[in-house]
Amino acid sequence: MNADTDSTPSRDLDLSTRLAHAGRAPGSHAGAVNIPPYRASTILHPTLAAFLAPDPEYRSVRYGRMGTPSSHAFEEAMAELEGGCGAVAVGSGLQAITVALSAFVRAGDHILVTDSVYGPTRHFCDQMLARLGVETEFYDPGIGAGIAGLIRENTRLIMLESPGSLTFEMQDVPAIVAAARARGCLTLIDNTWAAGVFFKPLALGVDVSIQAATKYVCGHSDATLGVIVAREEACRMAVKQSAVMLGAAAGADDLFLALRGLRTLPVRLARHQETGIRLARWMAGQPEVRRVLHPALPDDPGHALWQRDFTGACGLFAVELDRIPQDALAAMLDGLSLFGMGYSWGGFESLILPAFPDRIRTAVPWRGRGTLIRLHAGLEDAEDLIRDLDRAFDRLRRTRR
Ligand SMILES: *Cc1c(COP(=O)(O)O)cnc(C)c1O
Repeated sequence: MNADTDSTPSRDLDLSTRLAHAGRAPGSHAGAVNIPPYRASTILHPTLAAFLAPDPEYRSVRYGRMGTPSSHAFEEAMAELEGGCGAVAVGSGLQAITVALSAFVRAGDHILVTDSVYGPTRHFCDQMLARLGVETEFYDPGIGAGIAGLIRENTRLIMLESPGSLTFEMQDVPAIVAAARARGCLTLIDNTWAAGVFFKPLALGVDVSIQAATKYVCGHSDATLGVIVAREEACRMAVKQSAVMLGAAAGADDLFLALRGLRTLPVRLARHQETGIRLARWMAGQPEVRRVLHPALPDDPGHALWQRDFTGACGLFAVELDRIPQDALAAMLDGLSLFGMGYSWGGFESLILPAFPDRIRTAVPWRGRGTLIRLHAGLEDAEDLIRDLDRAFDRLRRTRR
């Protein structure tokens, strides 16, 4: 890339090549490789004529909340990653979901949301959308083409997430998209697990792909950011208007960190994938482990769909252990030295926590009777992580003697 030119990388190039160059503009930034964070609330207008003319991009005033070179660069790069026509950046992954849902629904609508959806998405539908007169029906994530039987006259959209939060069920995305299109419903997906790298929902006809960029895109557990990528301009425009009306915007420093994270995303994900599969296989060999919930493992019920539609797996998966009382679980988890107990995954560090899907499911009761543990494989050495887990199982066994 020449220091004086700003160019968009060609789509024939490999993803890692495109992500090294997407959204960069050294020609407009004194030759700097990275776009500096634009910390801007006030955008000045040079003349009265410029002040009175609406900004062609937003059809509204120029204002920091509406966008800056930082948000434009990130949106351009994310559209490149997901293969969309454009993107909208907002302050968190959950905000990306709420802005996107708000863009398309009105009172009297019915929406279909997978029962395996991220918990706070469920709460937004049950609480906020219900209050605004939108009815949410949760569906079995394994429904596939059977979704056609749930689509009503007033069904506006179908929300997917594959694999599901906490429980990792794979969805038959093309089958659901086909049913939705036949009835004129939009499809939205939470694509955070695949980070936009291992799964390309827009290429399969999904209308809107949403990510918590907080997770792998930022990748260092130091920012919250959300992004909505649309397949077509009409959807992108509707989402942008929703973001503007709701006052949703992304912070300059978080955008800077996300753009920085994006450059190393494929490299990091390859390592998260490799370590995640190693840990999952090792876990499967422990006598206390009833099953491993990881779609890249051949005996996972979602493996065939994963193999058909995905090109890889991130470092997040779960295991179902025998039912373990809390004190034994504490003995196991509290003594870990490399795994932290925290929710927000996708950073360089490994995480572990108990999960309770049985408390939130409504469409299909969660049938696991054991203790569910969610793990995130970070960028540490896999053998070091396995030794840490091995000692945790020893502590667990000592409590059971
Ligand atoms: C973490 C997460 C979100 C929310 O992201 P935030 O940036 O924390 O709001 C949404 N969806 C999924 C699947 C997530 O894991």
